[in-house]
Amino acid sequence: MKKFRKIYININSICNCKCVNCILSEDSRKMHDELSIDEINNLVDSIPQITDNQHYNIAEVSGGEPTLHKHFIEIVKILQSAKTKGHLHKIALLTNGLTASNKAFCSDISQYIDDVVITLYDTNPINHDWFTNVSGSFVDKIAAIDNFLECGVNVHIKLLVIRPSYQRLPEIAEFINQKWGNKVHVAINGTHYTGDAHRNNDVLFIKNQNAKPYIEKALDILIMNKTIVSVFFPLCILDPIYWQYSPRGFKDVIDASLSISPKYKIGKADRLLDEFIHRNDVCESCLLVERCNWPWKRYCEILDEQEIIEAKNNMYKNIIN
Ligand code: SF4
Repeated sequence: MKKFRKIYININSICNCKCVNCILSEDSRKMHDELSIDEINNLVDSIPQITDNQHYNIAEVSGGEPTLHKHFIEIVKILQSAKTKGHLHKIALLTNGLTASNKAFCSDISQYIDDVVITLYDTNPINHDWFTNVSGSFVDKIAAIDNFLECGVNVHIKLLVIRPSYQRLPEIAEFINQKWGNKVHVAINGTHYTGDAHRNNDVLFIKNQNAKPYIEKALDILIMNKTIVSVFFPLCILDPIYWQYSPRGFKDVIDASLSISPKYKIGKADRLLDEFIHRNDVCESCLLVERCNWPWKRYCEILDEQEIIEAKNNMYKNIIN
């Protein structure tokens, strides 16, 4: 099976939302950092080439809100050209969807991208827009998902385990089923408590154990509908029947991945390495550490490790019994 490496390309820091759970801080969004066209050309040229038949590179373009970069179309054209030359194999876009609610713009950019990742906070418009601090962002996001699907782009919807909406995960899953059938992929992710998400953790943080029944119910609803799902959550907390939805080989992907950003240019994907790979002692000694992917570090800084120690012990006891 081919292995892939992600090239995380963070092209700017400005955004048209002010999400309470943004992994950047408000100060860094205000810096208005961005990569220039020349920098992107040079950095894309410096991506290590794939020299065997066993690997492939996926570029994931993010920001801020990447589509607000004044040269966004040129940037995705550069990536498309790298794809044509065989240096990249897939182009994914991480967007809040607001600009792509415009059908003409969505159609323009869709010819250069393969996949899009959009985070849906809630399906109640008022609750959703509380997260983004932008009235109308729910309506725009839904329109963007419709537009991308119409343009033939693979849509990945990310749902977050986060206090204001974790109990609504099953309802959100029902909404997705009814609206898009199984035409979208859905990932349920633990929250990365960095940037504003960390600053606002007093309103966002929820214990994994409290979220478990809602995550499992949401997964049931999506799986029944034959939707492709993945879950980034501690496996010792989930029932073992859901372990199969934790992506295999994710550790290798992150280990091999690169990050490109205005501040740090090109380097290892340090934040993800810290969150997913450099694990605490409790996890490092666990039989499932290679299979278990979730942003543990900041979570354990907020709560401590006791919840995971207990969940791991219970998991081992259940296996033995
Ligand atoms: S102890 Fe850590 S690695 Fe093991 S299942 Fe729990 S969270 Fe995952």
